[in-house]
Amino acid sequence: MNILVAGFQHETNTFAPTMASYESFVRGEDFPAMVRGDAVYDLLNVNVPISGFIHHVRAHGHTVTPVIWAGAGASAHVTTDAYERIAGEIVEAVKVGHAAASYDAIYLDLHGAMVAQHVDDGEGELLARIRAVVGPEMRIVVSLDLHANVTEQMLTLADATVAYRTYPHVDMADTGRRAAELLLEIERLGTRPYRVARRVPFLIPVNSMSTMMQPTQGVYGLLEVLEQAAAPSAGLSLSFAPGFPAADFPECGPVVWGHGFDRGSVERAVEALLARICEPEAQWAVSFEAPDVAVRHAMTVAQTATRPVILADTQDNPGVGGDGNTMGMLRALLAAGAEDAAIGIVCDPAAAAAAHHAGVGAKIEIALGGCPQVADDAPLRATFEVEALSDGKFVYGGPMMHGKAADMGPMARLRIDGVLVAVSSAKAQLLDRNMYRVVGIEPDRMKILVNKSSVHFRADFAPIAEEILVVRAPGPFIADPAELPWQHLQPGMRLSPNGPTF
Ligand SMILES: [Zn+2]
Repeated sequence: MNILVAGFQHETNTFAPTMASYESFVRGEDFPAMVRGDAVYDLLNVNVPISGFIHHVRAHGHTVTPVIWAGAGASAHVTTDAYERIAGEIVEAVKVGHAAASYDAIYLDLHGAMVAQHVDDGEGELLARIRAVVGPEMRIVVSLDLHANVTEQMLTLADATVAYRTYPHVDMADTGRRAAELLLEIERLGTRPYRVARRVPFLIPVNSMSTMMQPTQGVYGLLEVLEQAAAPSAGLSLSFAPGFPAADFPECGPVVWGHGFDRGSVERAVEALLARICEPEAQWAVSFEAPDVAVRHAMTVAQTATRPVILADTQDNPGVGGDGNTMGMLRALLAAGAEDAAIGIVCDPAAAAAAHHAGVGAKIEIALGGCPQVADDAPLRATFEVEALSDGKFVYGGPMMHGKAADMGPMARLRIDGVLVAVSSAKAQLLDRNMYRVVGIEPDRMKILVNKSSVHFRADFAPIAEEILVVRAPGPFIADPAELPWQHLQPGMRLSPNGPTF
């Protein structure tokens, strides 16, 4: 076979302050920069689904035709312009190749939680446009993020769909490999697998989705047990996407689904997994700490600990739509007189420029950060000492993005009292210890770390952490979905585990 492959990833928080423009996709932000054609092969060493897919099909003697791979950091809606240009490029390649009969199947590396300005279900719409060209017989397989809000349209229009099983997402490439296996099995048997899907009737906060903790760890454990217990001829593939609970459209929410060539075994496995997820619903509740309480607790623990206490500033996580600029946690550290503390990454291009202009050793008086869209947040006007400068170029070292090169623009290490602030010119979720080291902060030696991240940081930081607390300082990402001003959810959906009904 020759397989047309393309990637288009965005996680949309429809409540977030900033949209994803075409330029956001060109830069890639948290993702690799946009690549097209043969340059997609540059991703073969990166932990992204398309690399796992390409490696697997090539190892089985097949070829691929890459179109484009484009992803942008989580934010508000994808602009109409960005969506139409990128989706249009994929559909055009589908058309041209179809007319020339140059490919036999299609693989799409999608997120599953993309909302564009003009389209609620970004991925479903893309699949519909592709099906309109290639018809119902063309084999199409799709891989999705664990945070996908999976729609009926996505599942119906693809022959098979698989999702990540880890959060932090250390299995992105492996999910691409599983999509490839399914495609090869479909091709070998010459038939489409059965599909069974069930929607979970409540939203799950992202902070309780970490597969390094319960209950999520147990759910994916059962998923794999069920797959292994099925007869090999059943070809059972199960997925659970707990969803992204900040996209205001009717199909936002968790979905369990399975594919296989024996309908009964797919149904039984999906029902068993659904029961494990729904009972008891309370297992998904999260406890959040207030900033002042969390900082005081961290300072007490730090008196005797040899490892850092980590506070997750989850509501300003750029990975879920924050801009990485809220000041609530820094204010809490300063108010408590915290020592040997560091916070990262604060995205403030003007502050980084001021630090570079002033030079190392200088004192600068600036208004740092501040998210204008957050009522309880404001810039922190104060004097900071410039301790170090950096070009912001580094290579990720942790398990999630290992080996990926990054460029956060001009960066600086600023000191205020006992707190070091890592300031960047581009926003990115703090999920890797090298993001501190790029400005000369050794995270392992700090007493307190404030990471602007929800869960992804755990992959690289849990092994060095004395304790981890999830903190709710004012920010654009509302960690408890029950507090969001929903307007378009499915009626009857519970807004949090055992929470109020929409
Ligand atoms: Zn995700």
